[in-house]
Amino acid sequence: MPKRILTVDDSSTMRQMVGLTLKTAGFEVLEAADGVEALEKLRQSPTVDLVLTDLNMPRMDGLELTRQIRAMASGRAVPIILLTTESSPEMKLRGKSAGATGWIVKPFQPNQLLEVIGKVAR
Ligand SMILES: [Mg+2]
Repeated sequence: MPKRILTVDDSSTMRQMVGLTLKTAGFEVLEAADGVEALEKLRQSPTVDLVLTDLNMPRMDGLELTRQIRAMASGRAVPIILLTTESSPEMKLRGKSAGATGWIVKPFQPNQLLEVIGKVAR
């Protein structure tokens, strides 16, 4: 069975880029435009192998989404990677304390994304 990845970003350009990269690499992809939609998708499809989420989004940002996923029975162990332009140590610490597994700084190349996913996908 292909691994299923949920990608969350309010930029449709970014979702397309990430989605194409993942589908080309053989992953099944679910997409959401913000944290609220991501939680809805997760309630419908709890068996997700990885979550890739943007940090800054309307309605619910990536940090709050990470906390909410960690509070779900099905989300305690799923790897969560934050994709963001903010790379300060303080933001990384906030990501870690919210429960994020890792961090990718934008802009990134598709192969960098696949490399990180290869390391953390369960
Ligand atoms: Mg954004």
